[in-house]
Formats: sequence, structure tokens, C-alpha cells
Amino acid sequence: MSRPRADHIGERFGKWTVILELKSMPNRSRVFLCECECGIQRSIPQSNLLYGSSTQCRRCSTKQMWADGKHLGKRRHKIARLNGKRMTVREACEKTGLLEATIRSRIRQGVRLDAPKHGGHQLVHDGVSMNMSGWARRFGVTRENIRQNIERGRTIGELIARYEG
Ligand SMILES: [Zn+2]
Repeated sequence: MSRPRADHIGERFGKWTVILELKSMPNRSRVFLCECECGIQRSIPQSNLLYGSSTQCRRCSTKQMWADGKHLGKRRHKIARLNGKRMTVREACEKTGLLEATIRSRIRQGVRLDAPKHGGHQLVHDGVSMNMSGWARRFGVTRENIRQNIERGRTIGELIARYEG
């Protein structure tokens, strides 16, 4: 035990202030009693503090989620586009069968609303847009095979020439 150990007492990590070090776990990972800004005290493993995976108590993080949710709510009527038609998110839900949250996130990310569910990265060739699994099915090869080809810099056009040419 030659390495000096930072005691962290009084240090702030997000909303946590370190109060005292609790007895170390059998695996020697360190645990601290911390107090959240709201006054709640919890024991937090050192790694969660240092790597920022715990910055506040559960009650405060729930509050924060609600605050963020309200912020999202303002964009409730954002316009969706499906096959060139403009519609509300609610209408797009009914047409596509996707969840509202999925539609909103696709609008934010600029992903097509008619892309397949769990689509993954879309590979487009000549106006045809499919994910790796889609192209793999079309060529009768494995998805892994498509992935390796794409990683080597081959285009879908080259694969079509190879498998269907
Ligand atoms: Zn709190």
C-alpha cells in the first residue's frame, strides 16, 4: 500500500458531495457515502463517481427526466413526412405502426419514416435503400459477408455486379 489514495472527502461529483469513505468491499473497490444536493445520502462506488455514471440521486434524476420531457413536449406537433406527404406525428404513427417516440427520433435524425423497424444503417443503391440484412437476403449471402465487403470499401453497386452480374 505505497500509492497515496485520494480521500475525496468534501469533493463534488455532479450533485454529489463526498461525506466519508465506507468500508472497502472485499474486492478492494472503494465506496463513499455521498450527499445529493437535495439532502439524500447514498453509498456510491468510487468508479461511478470518477467516471460520471452517477451524478445525482435517483429522485433528482427522475425530476430531470420530467423536465426534459416537458421540453420535448413543445415539439409535439412537429411535421412528419411520409412518401412526400406532410402529416402530424400522430398520423404518421397510424400509417407506419411505429411508436411516437420512434417517429420523433427518426425526424430528429433525418431517418426515413418508411425505413424498416430496427433497420440499422441504410445502404442505398440506385434509389433502393436497404440495411445490410436486406441486401444480404437479396444476394443470398450472410449479413456478415455484406459488412466485410462494405468495410473493405466495396459499394452495393459492386456487390450487385458480383452477385447478380
Ligand atoms: Zn437528489
